[in-house]
Amino acid sequence: MPLVVVGSIALDTVITPKGRRDNTVGGSATFFSLAAARQTRVQMVGVVGSDFPKDAIEDFKSRNIDLEGLEIRDGKTFRWGGEYRKSMKERKTIFTELNVFETFSPILPPAYRKTELLFLANIHPELQLQVLDQMENRPLIGLDSMNLWINISRDSLLKAIGRSHIIILNDEEIIELSEKPYLPNAVRFIQDLGPHTVIVKKGKYGAELFYYEKHAVYPICPEEQLVDPTGAGDAFAGGFMGYLASRNKSDLHFEDYKEAMICGTVLASFLVESFSTDKLAAISDLDISQRLQTFKKSLS
Ligand code: AMP
Repeated sequence: MPLVVVGSIALDTVITPKGRRDNTVGGSATFFSLAAARQTRVQMVGVVGSDFPKDAIEDFKSRNIDLEGLEIRDGKTFRWGGEYRKSMKERKTIFTELNVFETFSPILPPAYRKTELLFLANIHPELQLQVLDQMENRPLIGLDSMNLWINISRDSLLKAIGRSHIIILNDEEIIELSEKPYLPNAVRFIQDLGPHTVIVKKGKYGAELFYYEKHAVYPICPEEQLVDPTGAGDAFAGGFMGYLASRNKSDLHFEDYKEAMICGTVLASFLVESFSTDKLAAISDLDISQRLQTFKKSLS
């Protein structure tokens, strides 16, 4: 089934110990879509400026990504810059230029409003709420966010979370949001708001799945080399939701969510091996299935 995603589409400047890239294609919806489109048709909603590379748009279209919900406006694309220090655990945001994003108000094409699967990638929680208001049936909803919104828009974020089912956050974010330093309590806080599933990303320590009262822990899938972690969380979410989209929505169980964790982990492992979307775009379906097999074997 097709999967609708709403999020940022950006031109990023990224500095890591492995080098630097300026104005490279990024954004939460971009990384998510490229990962999810490996398994299902993605309907992408977002905004770019007239400076956004035409070949990137053509590339999206060639990859099972529908762009009816993409607005191309006069002006500059959202730009973000980040720098990683040695271990690449800590990231410093160097700049954020909202540009066309400043006045963006997502409008979903009529067909998207009936979607059965929706992902609210990292954008302002008020925009996530606007999207939820446009839904015409009751999709399964995933949501991601970031510390910026926890700090400046906590109430709206809590509302958006309360209307979603699957929340994907990193360990620091969930503790900051819940104000509960002990992880199980932080997860319980989120589940008490409504979502049945909470995924806690823990960087190089992998990720934990909390599905109702069930729990599973996953290590990372070893990558060939760590070049740029930007968007790893989005690629994870894309791999995760893409897997769910490939199943029957009315018959999803813990085992499906566990399998989705593996897909998310494997797609994220490819993403970090290059700057921007280079590696994620270059790999074949065979590369993905081979790494999936190797990773699954390592878990058993
Ligand atoms: P991640 O590494 O998963 O945090 O995602 C990095 C991506 O998030 C980059 O490509 C940025 O363009 C995008 N990003 C950074 N800040 C924001 C923001 N305030 N709203 C939406 N997207 C953002």
